[in-house]
Amino acid sequence: MGQVGAKQDRASRDRAERGKVPFAVPAFAGGVAARVAETLGSGWVTTGPQVGGFERDFAEYLGADAVVAVASCTAALELALRALDLPPGAPVLTPSLTFCGAVNAILHAGLRPVLVDVDEDTLVPSEETVAKAAARTGPKAMVTQNQGGYPVDVAALAAAARLDRTRVVEDAAHGPGAARGGRKAGADAHAACFSFYATKNMPIGEGGAVATNDPVLADRIRATRLHGMSKDSWKRYLPGGSWRYDVRNVGLKANMTDIQATIGRAQLTALDGWQDERARLVRRYDEALGGLPGLVLPQRNLDGITHAWHLYQVRVPDRDALIAELTEAGIGTSVHFIPVNQMSAYRTLLGPDECEAVPVTDRVAEELLSLPLFPGLTEAQQDRVVTGLSGALSSRRRPAVAG
Ligand SMILES: *Cc1c(COP(=O)(O)O)cnc(C)c1O
Repeated sequence: MGQVGAKQDRASRDRAERGKVPFAVPAFAGGVAARVAETLGSGWVTTGPQVGGFERDFAEYLGADAVVAVASCTAALELALRALDLPPGAPVLTPSLTFCGAVNAILHAGLRPVLVDVDEDTLVPSEETVAKAAARTGPKAMVTQNQGGYPVDVAALAAAARLDRTRVVEDAAHGPGAARGGRKAGADAHAACFSFYATKNMPIGEGGAVATNDPVLADRIRATRLHGMSKDSWKRYLPGGSWRYDVRNVGLKANMTDIQATIGRAQLTALDGWQDERARLVRRYDEALGGLPGLVLPQRNLDGITHAWHLYQVRVPDRDALIAELTEAGIGTSVHFIPVNQMSAYRTLLGPDECEAVPVTDRVAEELLSLPLFPGLTEAQQDRVVTGLSGALSSRRRPAVAG
């Protein structure tokens, strides 16, 4: 295609895109490109000083003792679970309404996922559902999840599972910015795993981290994120460093690069502002969508809680038809999540009994809809979402009122 053709193509694509509202657009802090250029020019691009700097910065942000940066949240979960040193096949509680990667991590660590049903308001397991699953299976560990940015009460869930806090791995992929009782999600964790995936609250593109208050666990994960080597190449390269290293246990290749860490350090300086923007957009959604027929807004008991608002999840009957209508109107949406118990791989691995014992998950999963929510979403775009949604809902036949 010639220059002119390419230009016209681009212009018509831009016109078509202008009216659309994407589900999510990653935000990047000012000056990030210059900082990346500096790192590229430094001659050191894999795990090195920037990763160390990011770990200190993120630990300080969370109020955690230590952070170990890794390749993804999925890798963080697997490394944290492996570090618990549980017997092969040991049962590990996990929400059924979660991301497949979190369950894959349990399986890759050689452990057995036990699905726990969720509460219909918070969309995370309750103390009751956890206690029930624990009584049935005698779990050796538990993975918790901050669905949509709602910080779960980890201590209460650990008690319900009759597990020590050191046997809880927190999937805090939706958690940066969330807090409970004035403490950030992950601040007091034995192992809290974060994601810096493109659509998450602090995007790097790809990346993850484990926050921990246990220095032994931090050291262990630091080694196992890079093959299990006793010294990474940065340490061997430092003055006085030696070429010698040992492999003490068989690790993963799941280190973070200095390029990712450079982006992360810049992103961290913008995170609080982005969180304020998310909260402001959520208030606008609440005001505009409250009272729409057939629409259930996100749960509201936020006493003592700072919600991270990773997602704005509503519930609506006949959700699939609504998604099709919104897509037609150029409005991007998503679903969090298609529950793992409905996926064929886990049905085969865990069996139908396990996968059919989570009725609340199955019911709410049919109704969940995540609306566009990201820093940079304009009020005009948000108004288009509201108009599209209310138009679609009010054109539905109202159910007959009983009585
Ligand atoms: C995104 C996500 C993950 C995985 O994060 P990656 O960094 O992509 O591995 C895990 N758990 C939940 C709940 C997620 O939303």
